[in-house]
Amino acid sequence: MNLLEYEAKQILRTFEVPVPKSTLVLASNEVVPAVPIVLKSQVHTGGRGKLGGVRVLKEGDTTSVAKEIFALPIKGELPRTLLAEEPLDIANEYYLSLHVNRSSGTIELVAHTDGGVEVESQTDFVRLEMVNGKEYAVESETRGIAGRIAEYFGLEEKEFLLGELLEKVYACFIQSDALLLEINPLILTKDGDLIAGDCKMTLDDAAAFRHPEWAFERPAGSTNFVTLNPKGTVATIANGAGLAMATVDAVKAVGLEPANFLDIGGGATVDGIVKSFKSILDFPCVTAIVINIFGGIVRCDDVAVAILEAQKQFSHLPKLYIRLSGTRSEEATKLLADANLPLYSDLPAALQELTT
Ligand code: GDP
Ligand code: MN
Repeated sequence: MNLLEYEAKQILRTFEVPVPKSTLVLASNEVVPAVPIVLKSQVHTGGRGKLGGVRVLKEGDTTSVAKEIFALPIKGELPRTLLAEEPLDIANEYYLSLHVNRSSGTIELVAHTDGGVEVESQTDFVRLEMVNGKEYAVESETRGIAGRIAEYFGLEEKEFLLGELLEKVYACFIQSDALLLEINPLILTKDGDLIAGDCKMTLDDAAAFRHPEWAFERPAGSTNFVTLNPKGTVATIANGAGLAMATVDAVKAVGLEPANFLDIGGGATVDGIVKSFKSILDFPCVTAIVINIFGGIVRCDDVAVAILEAQKQFSHLPKLYIRLSGTRSEEATKLLADANLPLYSDLPAALQELTT
């Protein structure tokens, strides 16, 4: 799972890794802090700087620039959040990352002296093994690495500061069950501080069970959609991979042919769910859609609104067999009842109706 920059920086902050002071802008009609400010589009892809998604503002109306960024897709993704940061006085930008090297079974540190937006054109990265067979790097190890990186960065006088930073970043990486933690740029300010200017973090989905605190924004419209049979007659929409699989199995068990598997995910938005309906309409033989939602992070009323929106947008929607329970299901029930859409108390009841 890839995090947004602000989510990654929140995690860095809890491990006391220095990040710029910031606030979030959650909607395009929200009041935005005045200049000087850096406004950053929160999307799940990198390279925002070059695409207009990072704006350093020294004068002018920040609110109108925020509106522009909200309306600017970055590699197809529109931000739902902007990060508004205090600008830094940059003396130099470095590249620093940790990742799990699966072939060597180690955690590798990768560094480059020329961090920033052009780092992808570099080939001569420095690679060091952070830890070798031990669960935690011992202090002396981290400190040894700090010495080498300080020398490589030409920051010998910053060896202690860099050592502290590496220890915190390493602890953050391990305790967060990260697969990748990339700080680019690591900014050296004119005051001599080292601050994470940007952070990209990938967490290990398999470790989610021990992180009840994980609740992150997912890209809008990003779903786990798998075509099972292009000639299938029943489409499925569910949330959570387990429930989505069970839904497909249940359709199959009553002798019907599921066209797809779809897990709308934890942070599903109305927009994203409407898009899912659009994908389903590409199947020529689908005559029914089974919607099976157990609302946890997903809100049932969001799903209901999306269903109504899809009915409005797509004139020939196949017949719907809906089962919703959990978060805000009462609101959802009311919305659907007002639109004369029947709801089923459980999946077997919905499927029985479908087969008769
Ligand atoms: P990315 O392009 O998606 O990786 O976005 P970054 O957050 O890395 O920003 C790209 C570039 O914007 C950085 O390399 C910096 O040169 C510049 N930048 C980012 N934050 C600041 C800041 O706080 N102050 C200033 N002056 N420049 C910044
Ligand atoms: Mn960056």
